[in-house]
Amino acid sequence: MLHRHLSTRKSVKGKECRAQVDGQDYEAVIGIETHVQLSTLTKAFCSCPSKYGSHPNSNVCPICMGLPGCLPVLNERVVESAVKLGVALHCQLSLKSKFDRKQYFYPDLPKGYQISQHDIPIARNGFVDVDIPMEFGGGHRRFCITRVHMEEDAGKLIHAGNDRLSGSFYTQVDLNRAGVPLLEIVSEPDMRSGVEAAEYAAELQRMVRYLGVSNGNMQEGSLRCDVNVSVRPKEDLPFGTKVEIKNMNSFSAMQRAIDFEISRQVTLHQEGQGDKIVQETRLWEEESQRTITMRVKEGLADYRYFPEPDLPEVILTQDYIDALKASLPELPDEKRRRYERMGLSMQDVIILANDSDVATFFDAVLEKGADVKMAANWIMGDIAAFLKSEKLSISEIKLTPLELADLIALIKDGTISGKIGKEVLVELLAKGGSVKALIEEKGLVQISDPDVIESMVDKILAENPKQLEQYRGGKTKLQGFFVGQVMKASKGKANPTLLSKILLDKLNAKQ
Ligand SMILES: [Zn+2]
Repeated sequence: MLHRHLSTRKSVKGKECRAQVDGQDYEAVIGIETHVQLSTLTKAFCSCPSKYGSHPNSNVCPICMGLPGCLPVLNERVVESAVKLGVALHCQLSLKSKFDRKQYFYPDLPKGYQISQHDIPIARNGFVDVDIPMEFGGGHRRFCITRVHMEEDAGKLIHAGNDRLSGSFYTQVDLNRAGVPLLEIVSEPDMRSGVEAAEYAAELQRMVRYLGVSNGNMQEGSLRCDVNVSVRPKEDLPFGTKVEIKNMNSFSAMQRAIDFEISRQVTLHQEGQGDKIVQETRLWEEESQRTITMRVKEGLADYRYFPEPDLPEVILTQDYIDALKASLPELPDEKRRRYERMGLSMQDVIILANDSDVATFFDAVLEKGADVKMAANWIMGDIAAFLKSEKLSISEIKLTPLELADLIALIKDGTISGKIGKEVLVELLAKGGSVKALIEEKGLVQISDPDVIESMVDKILAENPKQLEQYRGGKTKLQGFFVGQVMKASKGKANPTLLSKILLDKLNAKQ
């Protein structure tokens, strides 16, 4: 179903809703329809390039322009992407599905119909597991998926002239997007808050990116969410009138739009004006941080679906499905569970697993034998700070996973101190190179020879007889002073644990 159309999805009775009454005795019920634009090289039914940002109407042919007498040919990659996503969403796949014509008139749809899947979607009855970020209370949630189906996108209207005075009031049409393959993912109305809805959508984005079926870019419209929101006084009552919200181009906007809409509807109910909540489509207005009416629905559209006569049925074999299933990468939730089993906190798990580039880097560091917790801390600490200040992604830095693993190993075995490690890291991030070469070149190797440290300690004690006397007289705080002096003398290279032990022995030695 395209984004501007009426929602024909019937409200599905909440299966196993995680009810979260929002403290005001009202419960919000949220369902989401997501359109994902596939990153196939060519369009769904013709060989035109499926490329974002091309010159208007440069990627078109008689098939995607809807000229009469043309025959569409299904792009196999579309089916492959749908099966991959269906499997990843734990769906039941239809071994036999088909395409249908969904008929309506709109200037960006020259054919007069959209090729979609109506009564037999390629996948249905799945679910997605998400972890709510700690700052929103944490916890696991499972949201059910009603269906996933294949369809084509329509063109784009560009409202170019908008000046009534000069009479220049026109709209242009760009058909580059017409025929670009989409997957529509329809959720059960399982979400109860803006946070849950945004997390669900973010998980879909991660999933299509992990699977490599779409870039999931919301700004370019590769991932678009239509959100249905209603409220009801109690969780066992029928659903209230649902309002559809569109036009959110980030997960944070989605969360704010939903939370605004929930409070708008609750307020109307509380003021006895519940009848003012009507079936309508509202737009999220970023400037005013509110939803506004776009159009009121006047009844269910009848698209007069019928099987697409120009395309054969889509037949899948179990072998085909199994082969694709076996080819899937580790998915975000599997990764989070694996990181959790390694003993990382949920906060760390979410940060490391939810960005596939970060996860790939982290896994590569671990593969080189690095300590889990240390690798996690370096990536989330100093490296993340560097990425933020330089506006880089982790795949763009000069530091390689192998070098980070080496750095961690050298700190762990005491060759260099953690403090020196930070300095080395800064160099590696900026210039790349090898950790070992760098610390040798700069003479940064930690001094871990007890004899060397002992002679340094002896020297400092001999140079500071007054402080030594005070220490032995009970002013034990002076230990820090001696540590500082030895560290200074060693240019920060004395092994702190060893130094502390040798120093204490000397300080407390019987005279
Ligand atoms: Zn074409």
